[in-house]
Amino acid sequence: MNNKKLPVAVLGATGSVGQKFIELLQNHPWFELHEVAASERSAGKLYKDAVNWIQSTPLPEKAAKLIVKECKPDLESKIVFTGLDASVAGEIEENLANNGYYVISNSRNHRFDKDVPLLIPEINPDHLDLVKAQKRSGAIVTNPNCSTIGLALALKPLQDKFGIEQVNVVTMQALSGAGYPGVSSLDIIDNVIPFIGGEEEKMECEPLKIMGKFQDGQIEDSDFRISAQCNRVAVIDGHTETVQVKLKKKATIEEIENAWREFSALPQKLDLPSAPLRPIHYFEEKNYPQPKLHRNIDKAMAVSIGRLRECPLFDFKFVIISHNTIRGAAGGAILNAELMKDLGYFKNL
Ligand code: NAP
Repeated sequence: MNNKKLPVAVLGATGSVGQKFIELLQNHPWFELHEVAASERSAGKLYKDAVNWIQSTPLPEKAAKLIVKECKPDLESKIVFTGLDASVAGEIEENLANNGYYVISNSRNHRFDKDVPLLIPEINPDHLDLVKAQKRSGAIVTNPNCSTIGLALALKPLQDKFGIEQVNVVTMQALSGAGYPGVSSLDIIDNVIPFIGGEEEKMECEPLKIMGKFQDGQIEDSDFRISAQCNRVAVIDGHTETVQVKLKKKATIEEIENAWREFSALPQKLDLPSAPLRPIHYFEEKNYPQPKLHRNIDKAMAVSIGRLRECPLFDFKFVIISHNTIRGAAGGAILNAELMKDLGYFKNL
């Protein structure tokens, strides 16, 4: 192993998010994939035999030869990325963090623990300080739901400049967001499914914690209200969201466009390896953004926004696209870990 790089493990490595981790980590300048783990069904097998590789890039050779381990605290890597099924993630992550591991999670289980940051490095890097209050020898840091990430990145510059009163959002979410094998083809071809369990609740709460104020060691949630309706559509990758927003202060279309265009934050300043050059790409074309065209923009780590116009019910409406398994999951988690490394949160590693 390259000594300059930190060894990392991926848990849930056979799943949709786990595979994205494997793909994104293969040439990472700071982290080196050292271990993979999944359920007892996969443990003991070579990764190439345990996984049904569904990425469009070849399975990295090094990963292919790793033996899949169980998700237990005998892993050698102290930094652990998790893409575990939520039915098991809570307990496994807690156990690892109590045994000195830094758990960078994609699952919902710990997102609302009072001492766990729900992190988007461009929005709330200060929330990382919550980690210091954790009574674990390691730590848990979570990233938000895949639809929340795109929405929160689009709302952040508006909140900073104009304040937000309320938001209405309708999602058209990609199939890869349902994991593998996910939704059956007979259910989704020629169809839209107007229900994704738990998703609307997550979208209505998570942005408020993320955009909350961190003071006196705790987070005071933001006070605007969100109404969300979530749909599954026959797109492979990339969540589309149509958003209506009511602002606290008056704004013009031009001021909003400028707020998005000028938005840049700590990951850009620190030049973190997975940071997009610009977190938001704003399009003036009438029929943009589209998942097929824009999900991969800026390493698939940026949110694309377009169709900004006045709204007769709210103040403004617009459309956003973000890549759900990269910015919304594995890439977002890797960016979280990069921020933690850069800011010195990985003690003694
Ligand atoms: P997935 O494709 O169903 O993968 C689930 C993974 O969990 C597999 O590696 C599976 O291993 C492992 N697993 C299942 N039961 C286990 C057990 N008892 N012990 C240890 N490992 C077990 O799911 P996914 O879409 O990648 O999602 C993973 C997590 O990320 C979920 O919590 C999800 O909500 C969250 N998330 C997903 C997305 C997305 O866009 N897909 C975005 C954000 C967050 P085996 O193969 O061995 O069964």
